[in-house]
Amino acid sequence: MMKKAIKILLLLIIPFSLIGQNIDNIFAEKKEIYFSFNIKDKSQLDRLSKIISIDHKTNKKDAYAYANKKQFTKFLQKKIEFKIIDNSISYNNISKNNWDYYPTYDQYVDMMYAFADSFPQICKIHSLGTLNSGRELLIINISDNVYQKENEPSFLYTSSMHGNELTGYVLMIRLIDDILNNYNSDSYITDLVNEIDIWINPLANPDGAYAGGNSNVWGATRSNANMVDLNRNYPDPQDGPHPDGNSWQDETLMFMGLSDSIDFNLSSNLHTGAVVANYPWDTWIQLTADDNWWQHICNEYADTCQYYGNSNYFTGFDDGIVNGYDWYEVDGGRQDYMNYFKHCREFTLELSNDKTPNPLDLPYYWNANKNSFYNFMEQSLYGLRGIITDSITGLPLKAKVEIIGHDEDSSHVFSSLQIGNYHRYIYQGSYQFTFSKSGYHTKTINASIINNNFTIQDVQLVPIGFVSVNNIKENKKIINSIDILGKNNNNNNNNIIKINIFKDGSINKKIIID
Ligand SMILES: [Zn+2]
Repeated sequence: MMKKAIKILLLLIIPFSLIGQNIDNIFAEKKEIYFSFNIKDKSQLDRLSKIISIDHKTNKKDAYAYANKKQFTKFLQKKIEFKIIDNSISYNNISKNNWDYYPTYDQYVDMMYAFADSFPQICKIHSLGTLNSGRELLIINISDNVYQKENEPSFLYTSSMHGNELTGYVLMIRLIDDILNNYNSDSYITDLVNEIDIWINPLANPDGAYAGGNSNVWGATRSNANMVDLNRNYPDPQDGPHPDGNSWQDETLMFMGLSDSIDFNLSSNLHTGAVVANYPWDTWIQLTADDNWWQHICNEYADTCQYYGNSNYFTGFDDGIVNGYDWYEVDGGRQDYMNYFKHCREFTLELSNDKTPNPLDLPYYWNANKNSFYNFMEQSLYGLRGIITDSITGLPLKAKVEIIGHDEDSSHVFSSLQIGNYHRYIYQGSYQFTFSKSGYHTKTINASIINNNFTIQDVQLVPIGFVSVNNIKENKKIINSIDILGKNNNNNNNNIIKINIFKDGSINKKIIID
């Protein structure tokens, strides 16, 4: 009897004391640990993803995850067997030819500013802000008229928001270099620069990448300096503004500010730890309205990598592509934020199984991905596009573009000021598009789309109401009178806009509603 009681007591006490002891030892030298455990089922994994940062290496049986001390304490309470993985890496960083090295932080900054200095006509550098560490979030803008808004889609590549996932970091610096040096010599790249507003941010988490100091990336962490996983720190369509329980980090605020000021149309967010093109959603099970378009885009990316890469590159999952939620749930991810709240089509690219590959392998990853990088940029030109203006003044409008019987979960898009241009990417077919803005009559237009092609549809929206004509003077003589017939889709009445142009150059306009 006595014996039994002691046994029960031990069972209760020992795991608890072990937890306390372990956790201090474990976090004595590191602020962030990497570990693995077996998964019972997907629902268990989805529950745990709300406590710890599930990593891209996770498959159906084994989960890989990162945690800081607070997160790991919560995980231990679940009493799941785990294995801590030593993820420290180091390579000799001697070679500096052919993009086969990771630059120091200062080399990186110098390269970025040198791009803008060397190609001032087509390249501009922006600092999104300086972190408490003194490190900057830098982004390069490349376009033919880099200082002015044009009827062009805005395209974004951003890499390494997970500071230790660094393949895309070097590849994006190299992409900037490739674009700039081939402008006016390679006609394909020249066309992309002339027709797209290109933005490239090679390093979204410099404090994570250089956590071990500015001289190399061997001490890199996934999280930022506050041990926050930046890819769990965004407002989430399902889980609200702070799904991770942390305030928005400076890096998050800087990127949210960027996406408020630039209406990005198409984007990709580069990671490592797996090789796959991961498309939305991450937070919930339902598919996006444009699931077939996403599969087309991701297949194009993966197929091109299969062609240029080794025989097994981009062949995992479903032939190199995967639906985010189907893989593992992510709440507070950047991809869903951009799609749901900013109406920008963004997907997540996983470029290599090694988080920070041997730098000598970086040229291989460049050769395997280069054509896919360009193909995806080219996709920003396709779909239905045009300019939306006020039918009377001709001024550009920020209006809503919606597809009847198709759009859901915020998949509609808006035209962008100062130009009024809109870009609606969609899988080929015939659709009914509506163009609307409060104060204007909604316009409905049928249009057909072909994959990897664009259809141009400029739209003039007619203002609702009546502009009174008070000041026509008898002595003015009308020299020209224009009637414009507009259709009001709400009740199918016709609106006639009458514009009179007088001899003295003055104009009046009036809308007659039948
Ligand atoms: Zn990542």
